[in-house]
Amino acid sequence: MRATLMYGPGDVRVIDVPDPVLQQPTDAVVRVVRSCVCGSDLHPYHSMTPEGTGAPMGHEFLGVVEEIGADVTTVTRGDLVVASFAWQDNTCDLCREGVQTSCRHGGFFAMNGIGGGQAEAVRVPQADGTLVRLPVAEDAALLPSLLTLADVLATGHHAAVRGRVTARTTVTVIGDGAVGLLAVLAARRLGAERIILMGRHKARTDLGLEFGATDVVAARGEEGIARVRELTGGDGTHAVLECVGHRPAYEQALGVVRAGGVISRVGVPQYADGDVGWRLFGRNLTLTGGPAPVRNYIEELLPDVLDGTIDPGRVFDRTLGLEEIPDAYRAMDDRSALKVLIRVY
Ligand SMILES: [Zn+2]
Repeated sequence: MRATLMYGPGDVRVIDVPDPVLQQPTDAVVRVVRSCVCGSDLHPYHSMTPEGTGAPMGHEFLGVVEEIGADVTTVTRGDLVVASFAWQDNTCDLCREGVQTSCRHGGFFAMNGIGGGQAEAVRVPQADGTLVRLPVAEDAALLPSLLTLADVLATGHHAAVRGRVTARTTVTVIGDGAVGLLAVLAARRLGAERIILMGRHKARTDLGLEFGATDVVAARGEEGIARVRELTGGDGTHAVLECVGHRPAYEQALGVVRAGGVISRVGVPQYADGDVGWRLFGRNLTLTGGPAPVRNYIEELLPDVLDGTIDPGRVFDRTLGLEEIPDAYRAMDDRSALKVLIRVY
């Protein structure tokens, strides 16, 4: 089959690799129908250590079940399914506590010998805990929105949940990438009425306004912080959803969060040091967030996608084929595309 591998910074290739096969009785093999490129795929695209054998790429996909292992009971051959970006049994104690990304029998796609979703097919470990059947036809116009359940919609939702967003909270979202925009949508869905979106790309922040943002702040750093404080009577907002992952975004979050409030991070941190001293402690702030336990949220979010209450698939502003994936990385890297949908089959 054809699959996407990354060999070093800027070096993404679609090549022939062996077809995935069942290895465990709990596995399924899924033929990929739609995949996409994630903002987090751009981190290795910039900085990975060159690797002769290449690293498989992609953790967002939906597709059709082709084969199931002997122990798989919840999906069967021919089902259209979406996978969470982490695989898990969804039954162990940590899964039941809602941290499926820390499953005792789980892991992540495109890591540690598990293939990626930017390919014609994927071996899915723990299929019963990882795949969710989608009650639509394979060519449904809903596929882009359903694909966001694999990561970006559920990750934006996780930011809002960890940020304790309700109708009574004011919210700042930092970042106008797909996750930031869907964090706006998720905060609105949970009832927030004041949502300040910090982002600099007008086409993106315009979509954020349609998703429910009430204000846009294009300025960054001290100037951006001052602007958010001005909009909130000097206090900042109860929740700050940090959807970038770079240190300046964390600093910005510390600057715009209200006393007693929450900084909820879902941007994968590209830093290991930050201020956790008086600036955090002195105002009774909570710092939370992490990789979204997507599987925990799919049942809650799926009905709203199916009935059109929300339309998260609007974050895809370009569609390319599997062989064009190197162009998809380039387009997202130079910001000419917000998020590229990959039509595999
Ligand atoms: Zn588990």
